[in-house]
Amino acid sequence: MTQTRTTRLERGRSALGPALELVHTGQAPTRAVLTAELGVTRATAGAVAGELEALGLITVDAHPTAPVGSQGRPSHRLAVDPDGPVALAAQIHADGYRAALVGLGGRLVATAPGCGIVDADPAQIISEVVRAGAELLHASGRRCVGAGLAVPSAVAEPDGTALNPLHLAWEAGAPVRDTFRACLAEARVTGPADGAPVTGFAANDLNVAALAEYRHGAGRGARHLLVVGTGHHGVGGALVLDGRLHTGSSGLALEVGHLTVDPDGRPCHCGSRGCLDVETDPAALFAAAGRAPVSGGGSLLSQAGELIRDRYPRDARVREAVERLIDRLGLGLAGLVNILNPDRIVLAGLHRHLVEADGERLRGVVADRSLWGRSGSVPVLPSSLEHSSLVGAAELAWQPVLDDPIGVLGG
Ligand SMILES: [Zn+2]
Repeated sequence: MTQTRTTRLERGRSALGPALELVHTGQAPTRAVLTAELGVTRATAGAVAGELEALGLITVDAHPTAPVGSQGRPSHRLAVDPDGPVALAAQIHADGYRAALVGLGGRLVATAPGCGIVDADPAQIISEVVRAGAELLHASGRRCVGAGLAVPSAVAEPDGTALNPLHLAWEAGAPVRDTFRACLAEARVTGPADGAPVTGFAANDLNVAALAEYRHGAGRGARHLLVVGTGHHGVGGALVLDGRLHTGSSGLALEVGHLTVDPDGRPCHCGSRGCLDVETDPAALFAAAGRAPVSGGGSLLSQAGELIRDRYPRDARVREAVERLIDRLGLGLAGLVNILNPDRIVLAGLHRHLVEADGERLRGVVADRSLWGRSGSVPVLPSSLEHSSLVGAAELAWQPVLDDPIGVLGG
């Protein structure tokens, strides 16, 4: 290596992480944009892009072309390497699990679902999902940078315990992160550098879904992003402030599911009644529509989504049920808007289907019932990612690489 290139790289090493994050989130499609975003010289940006390419993380187009109609100087196109390493992502929900491999850019490389009863011992389902993920990894032949687990419970920090798994048979305080790590070691899922087991992370499913929507989906560009959504059962919320999840002092912030939206409503697992959790989740939709999900017809969430898509336009009972849920959800969102003053709301899970069915009605309730809604409107959008909790779980595993690409992958 020449002296000049060494010096440039040393100067550029601190820029590797920020550069990778820009390509990862689609904000640096060319080397010219990367140069401008990093505020470095073209030579340094070139060295940084070259180093990320050598690590197998991005591709640099060797034959730069100017955009059609542009008078500007041609620039090398940058993209995440489609054959690069992946993160193993795992999600547990009330009806089973799903494993996935996720590359940079939030790209789903492969997924494998599994349906079944979730046992009271978390190790049972966590070992199943890890084995499914390990099989995907083996079949793909990709390097694995780390692993992330999304669970339908608040996860205490820094202990990694599931504090309120209301919709699973797990005990409160189940050590999900340590169990996940033990299962990864048992399945011999090894990391990129030294053959040691990969590091496993665990977090609440909606928190990581919010991170994924912020980085790759409908939340891009928001500074105070509120995400509310259902899993298969229940409702969660998350707040992303200037790119970082707001998790509170110990990981329990934004437990929005237990806001009361109907004082005389359905009894909730938390001991109260009329909570957002039981008034606006998939089970609430079926109850309000006077229908029952079909046994063996797919997960409750997917059946509820199909009910809205197929029946909402032409079935008065389903329409009434959807409107009832929209009104309840609107009340909950209005309360959150008053407290948090977000600049964007993204709705996930069943709530995505509700805003797609009648966004005008929902935005109307939020505007009527909130101070901020009346003084200016808050955009309320459907989530745009498929499997956002899995993409978000993978973000946890990608974070050390984004922080220090050479430290993790340089060997
Ligand atoms: Zn409740």
